[in-house]
Amino acid sequence: PRLANQIAAGEVVERPSSVTKELIENAIDAGSQRIEVDIEQGGARLIKVRDDGIGIGEEDLPLALARHATSKIGSLEDLEGVSSLGFRGEALASISSVSRLELISNAEEDPRHGWRVVAEGRGMEARVTPAPHPRGTSVGVRDLFFNTPARRKFLRTEKTEFAHVEEAFRRQALSRYDIAWVLRHNQKVIHQLPAGHSAAARERRIASLLGKNFIEHARYIEREAGGLRLSGWVGLPTHSRSQADQQYFFVNGRVVRDRLVAHAVRQAYRDVLFNGRHPVFVLYLELDPDVVDVNVHPTKHEVRFRDGRMVHDFLYSSLHHCLASAKP
Ligand code: ADP
Ligand code: MG
Repeated sequence: PRLANQIAAGEVVERPSSVTKELIENAIDAGSQRIEVDIEQGGARLIKVRDDGIGIGEEDLPLALARHATSKIGSLEDLEGVSSLGFRGEALASISSVSRLELISNAEEDPRHGWRVVAEGRGMEARVTPAPHPRGTSVGVRDLFFNTPARRKFLRTEKTEFAHVEEAFRRQALSRYDIAWVLRHNQKVIHQLPAGHSAAARERRIASLLGKNFIEHARYIEREAGGLRLSGWVGLPTHSRSQADQQYFFVNGRVVRDRLVAHAVRQAYRDVLFNGRHPVFVLYLELDPDVVDVNVHPTKHEVRFRDGRMVHDFLYSSLHHCLASAKP
């Protein structure tokens, strides 16, 4: 199973940011209200995610590290509906096959309880030992790729790896305003984001994640038609170059990179004569889950709309209207 896990790890675990993403998804799935992410040396030394979710009971702790031991697929219908973020049941197994992983969890209210299990490349330590922990889970991943030197070699500089980690964090934090988040790098707080749904709270979060400049030059958009609801911020072009990659589009809460969406946005910008300007935006599209397939690819960044034409036209007209009225 070790080799199988390491092969599987190649698909899930590309670099520290992919580990971070998987651990955060698990924390979200556990119903957490607060998620703290600690990174050391760009994640090459440590990636730690601590949550206050439902936790894992003593008996289930070793299972969480076993391949395909997901608790999240009860049936084929579940798989099709993808009610939760994780559905493969192999992230923790894969990650532990290429790192030193420590899992501490407590599924009870009493913080004196809690259990710990460790796994180090070669295999899991059979012992589950008591370890006090507040209700919730902490997963620490140390020395990523320590036993696969060829992969370790592919890690870039600390700065680059952390930039990827921060980007993974950003996407998740932009998708859940009801969760409080913290990101630290080498013990320094990079983002501290209280939970809150008010317009002011959301704008503060965006300012922290994307910079004050973005929010100061953005327009809020909110529009609903034909079962589609679009909300979020569209950046008005400035001369700032640093914003070039700030394009976030969420479909029913999941970040998505989609041609049809990109095309609709680009066209709206072009037609309002922001010619040659790179669109920047944080947009949320909500629609009936039955008319969108978010499961096209395992990484789930792609979507397929049942009526792509309608979605495209809705996006285009909403953005065109918003941009045209904002034009100086
Ligand atoms: P998946 O998320 O696809 O089920 P993972 O390997 O990521 O597979 O996790 C395996 C299992 O471990 C999960 O199904 C869940 O039961 C448990 N688990 C992992 N992380 C957490 C967490 N932070 N809180 C509660 N349970 C968790
Ligand atoms: Mg998972």
